[in-house]
Amino acid sequence: MIYVISGPSGCGKSTLIKNLMACLPGLLFSVSHTTRPRRPDEVEGQDYYFITREKFEEMKDGGAFLEWAEVHGHLYGTSREEVDKKSRQGDLILDIDVQGAHQVKKKLDGARFVFVVPPSYPELEKRLKQRKTDRPEAVALRLKNARREILESSIFDYLVINGELNQALEELKAIVLAHRCLFQQRQKEFREILKSFKSWP
Ligand code: ADP
Ligand code: 5GP
Repeated sequence: MIYVISGPSGCGKSTLIKNLMACLPGLLFSVSHTTRPRRPDEVEGQDYYFITREKFEEMKDGGAFLEWAEVHGHLYGTSREEVDKKSRQGDLILDIDVQGAHQVKKKLDGARFVFVVPPSYPELEKRLKQRKTDRPEAVALRLKNARREILESSIFDYLVINGELNQALEELKAIVLAHRCLFQQRQKEFREILKSFKSWP
């Protein structure tokens, strides 16, 4: 299953996804391409593929992206290769903005869409400032965009309110686990169990 996770910058998507991946096996992260400069704690190829605008345009024109968008003044895109390769290996998580989520909705059948929100606007402002990764102008732009993004949430299947981190994490975990528990997803395991019943004397 592909999970598209969106929400205003600073609401806690990366934090939630990192924690989710640490506690739930079988999850993969779709590493996006971006023209945004790398933050000190970010790792090339793990958080993003950091590329120039020229390279991004070249990839875009060559049809390499499943979706792409300009977000807070930088370009971000999900490559088809990344999604094709990783979605075969397990459940795949895409951390992308709302514009990108709308594009994926049109292109991928059956993906699940999760919208993450902070408990309030002042709390979002506090988190963006405390993160200290963006200059004041960039924080202001992210807050301005948040007011728009929060109104574009109609395509999403799930809403996770990231107030208390552990509770939000439990909710996200429940979304993935509920899908893994569907009868249809467990045919192989169920067949093995059935076999054991038949071979019982
Ligand atoms: P996003 O990926 O959505 O931009 P981050 O995961 O970078 O957001 O989180 C933004 C900031 O908020 C980080 O400093 C992070 O540690 C903090 N944070 C995330 N979730 C919570 C939470 N539930 N309560 C308090 N702070 C949080
Ligand atoms: P940040 O710069 O804080 O890492 O990310 C800024 C915004 O870009 C976030 O909302 C994040 O979800 C979004 N984003 C990251 N990768 C992609 C992508 O590949 N496509 C799109 N459309 N948005 C992305």
